[in-house]
Amino acid sequence: MSRVKAGILDDVLKELRSAKKIHPGWPDHIVARAAIVAEGAGELLKDALQAKYEPGKAGLSLTDQRAAMRREAVQTAAMAIRFIEVLDAEEIAREPKLPDT
Ligand SMILES: [Mg+2]
Repeated sequence: MSRVKAGILDDVLKELRSAKKIHPGWPDHIVARAAIVAEGAGELLKDALQAKYEPGKAGLSLTDQRAAMRREAVQTAAMAIRFIEVLDAEEIAREPKLPDT
């Protein structure tokens, strides 16, 4: 198993907790859930494009732009985990129940 720096996982889990607190609801529609994950990835892509092709945009330093990309990557990872959590929980709920004996 590959290793991820603890600080990265801490940041992702902190973001996940925060997102659940701010937005306790999670859509029933699977495409809406995927769209939430994709929205984060889209924001990351936008920031990456700006860092690459519009350095210094809006007075942001490269450090600021890199920090923005990291924030979006953390948000995307948190939403991907939330997606997986709910999907897995639904899968468990779908499992056939054994009859009572
Ligand atoms: Mg975002």
